[in-house]
Amino acid sequence: MSGSYTFTMIKPDAVQAGNIGGILNMINEGGFRIVAMKLTKLTKRQAEVFYEIHQERPFYGELVEYMTSGPIVAAILEKDNAVEAYRELIGATDPTKAAEGTIRKKFATSIAANAVHGSDSDDNAKIESDFFFPRLERFTAEGESCY
Ligand code: UDP
Ligand code: MG
Repeated sequence: MSGSYTFTMIKPDAVQAGNIGGILNMINEGGFRIVAMKLTKLTKRQAEVFYEIHQERPFYGELVEYMTSGPIVAAILEKDNAVEAYRELIGATDPTKAAEGTIRKKFATSIAANAVHGSDSDDNAKIESDFFFPRLERFTAEGESCY
């Protein structure tokens, strides 16, 4: 599975602003296949655990509050070299530094409310995918469950 998968969330600001469709369109146009996807809302505990690696950073409390402020779309994406390719598609964390043609350039409103999450490594892509999706909610390219 290594190398071909990444995990993404469409964050509360982008869901609230009606940008699910626009972002999924850019994901499709970028050549990613959707392996798993759901609309859900994180509890405080779930967001704290998901972002545990950032717990010493000054923005951790605000990040947890923001990520629990409304529904999110979680998804597993497949493409060759998925983690790097998707980081390229989403652009820099700070939307003022994100390149033209990236998801964050188009849809992010601030460094905190930056429209999407993307895994930063193959290991984290697996950890994050497993956090949200059991195998029976993952699908092969042929449409078979239990991927
Ligand atoms: N974040 C923030 N302030 C910062 C840096 C990050 O609010 O100064 C938030 C932002 O939503 C970001 C998330 O914390 O997407 C995780 O930060 P990370 O450095 O992992 O950025 P990413 O991998 O999302 O580009
Ligand atoms: Mg990150």
